[in-house]
Amino acid sequence: METILSITNLNKRFGSVHAVKNVSLEIQKGNVYGILGPNGSGKSTTLGIVLNVVNKTSGDYSWFGGTMQTHEALRKVGAIIERPNFYPYMTARENLELVCKIKNINTAKVHEKLELVGLLERENSKFSTFSLGMKQRLAIASALLNDPEILILDEPTNGLDPQGIHQIRDIIKQIAAQGTTILLASHLLDEVEKVCTHVLVLRKGEILYSGRVNEMTSNEGFFELESDDKRVLKSVLLQHPSIDKVIDENSKVLVYLKSPLQASELNRYLFEKNIVLNHLVKRKNSLEEQFLELTKK
Ligand code: ADP
Ligand code: MG
Repeated sequence: METILSITNLNKRFGSVHAVKNVSLEIQKGNVYGILGPNGSGKSTTLGIVLNVVNKTSGDYSWFGGTMQTHEALRKVGAIIERPNFYPYMTARENLELVCKIKNINTAKVHEKLELVGLLERENSKFSTFSLGMKQRLAIASALLNDPEILILDEPTNGLDPQGIHQIRDIIKQIAAQGTTILLASHLLDEVEKVCTHVLVLRKGEILYSGRVNEMTSNEGFFELESDDKRVLKSVLLQHPSIDKVIDENSKVLVYLKSPLQASELNRYLFEKNIVLNHLVKRKNSLEEQFLELTKK
């Protein structure tokens, strides 16, 4: 595996605000990473640090295994961290050609990238006539002109209408399918779920979860139980080695597991302890519930 970016124990303080707390992340080539968290959780600050536009307080990061200087490494990074800004009276094509000239890139790339983001038919329209979604797509095309190793996007669908959101997500998936590594920050769970393979969940600068998106959903699940004597039920449940915690929910209790347990096994265990259940359902948290669970407080 090839490491694109490695972040170790990164911290950022803005005066009394500890915006990023001990964040670590390994980005491997070919994956799509999401940094997910509510507003103010430190996503943009983290991206700003690795892009060398925000100074870190402590910790480290290194690009491409630390084999090159940051400014040199950043030439292989495409990033969009602000609202797209181009010359309003120049066309899409002219704007991208200018970027090519500045960055010393062959202008033949302009056609290829406009096609990728679905703007070829509009290449001769002035930037000022573009919708926000089209502007965002042009920004993506621009960031891809030099075929970067990794594309970094901060809240790429913010402010877009549903169709615009869908287009951007499709384009991101297409770019990923071509082998470009992607790192995107988002406060939208379904965006990360739809687009990313890996996720770092942040709350107030702290990592709550880091790993594969699909493993975030594969928790052991939980049971909903009810019996006549809730107090006895709870104390017996807590003696079982597979049970992590028991939480009250109205007349029922929710039983969270630390290792797999079948409903029938649990039922037999309780029956042998003279507990008869009125209600037993096995449930699994949706990713949404888990995210809310992770980020509440
Ligand atoms: P996110 O991108 O997840 O919404 P940010 O990284 O923008 O979060 O912000 C994280 C925290 O750092 C917030 O509390 C924010 O107010 C604070 N912060 C960000 N930038 C600055 C700054 N330039 N000066 C002071 N505080 C800042
Ligand atoms: Mg942000």
